[in-house]
Amino acid sequence: MDVVGHFDQWNILRQQLDRGRLAQCLLFAGPEGIGKRLMALKLAQYALCEDGGIRPCGGCGSCLRIKNNESESVFQVNPIEQQIRVDQVRQVLHFLELKGFRKLRFVVVDQADAMNIQAANAFLKALEEPPEGTCVILISSFPWMLPATVRSRAVWVTFKPLKLVEIKSLFPKYPDWAVRMSQGSPGRLLTVVESADQGVRQKAWELVKAMLQGRRGEEDWGATINKNNYQSYLSFMLFYLRDLLILKTALPSNSNGNSLAPRKHLGESAHGLIYNVDQISEMEMWVSHLTFPFNEVSYLISWVTALRQNVDPRLALDGLVLARSFQGYSVI
Ligand SMILES: [Zn+2]
Repeated sequence: MDVVGHFDQWNILRQQLDRGRLAQCLLFAGPEGIGKRLMALKLAQYALCEDGGIRPCGGCGSCLRIKNNESESVFQVNPIEQQIRVDQVRQVLHFLELKGFRKLRFVVVDQADAMNIQAANAFLKALEEPPEGTCVILISSFPWMLPATVRSRAVWVTFKPLKLVEIKSLFPKYPDWAVRMSQGSPGRLLTVVESADQGVRQKAWELVKAMLQGRRGEEDWGATINKNNYQSYLSFMLFYLRDLLILKTALPSNSNGNSLAPRKHLGESAHGLIYNVDQISEMEMWVSHLTFPFNEVSYLISWVTALRQNVDPRLALDGLVLARSFQGYSVI
């Protein structure tokens, strides 16, 4: 996939490179899945392209080697089991000691915040005295988690999520609910659609309804939810809970706390904020019949958010459903 959008960042980096003023350490900061790593590789391709025409051509030997991670001028570092270890950083230092490069060379560190302390300390060496003609690009969605010593040596380039219209025009075949859930990230869009195809979205909705009704639901959730789909379940659940909260806000209540038909103007503006746009009627019907206290949904949201950190997904989610079943919500 090619870089999408981020034209300002691209033009600035390209011009700096052309003028020989590219910083020796860059920090690409911004949300996940919006093309930061692709931009780093595109910059390397631009600098090292062997074609005389518009750079990067994408088809010359150099461009292809970079794309396939086979370039001797570009060293890529990726976390192994969610950590960048000191031996990986030593490989970077070794790469930087190599002589005989005629052009620029690049070190691209993806998820740089995954460096452990030893790795970050070792990495500082590379940042303190980078060899001539070297550009180190750190990539991070959580830049504040990088040690301040590393952070302060880098020139920040900030990337923002794409606009939803951009996502829509790039992926016209994808449904609106998925485009909204992408939150401006093409990478997230693909993840969302893939896990929905596996039935996760549908089941997450069942689970949310079961929780709000204070029952366990039909499914054996402990068996359904596993280490691989856990985060997807929680994300979909958060989207639903958030949507329900917004729709609940948009509904007027009578003195018993029961919601009535939506106020027209509020209801319409609320719809613009909803992620699950294909299920608005269903969710509205649900919200208008539910008697759960207003703040219970936000309570559930904070609970599910906290669960995302939990190491034992099956146990945690099963526990959550069980705990809710003692609350005894009533549904008319
Ligand atoms: Zn090329």
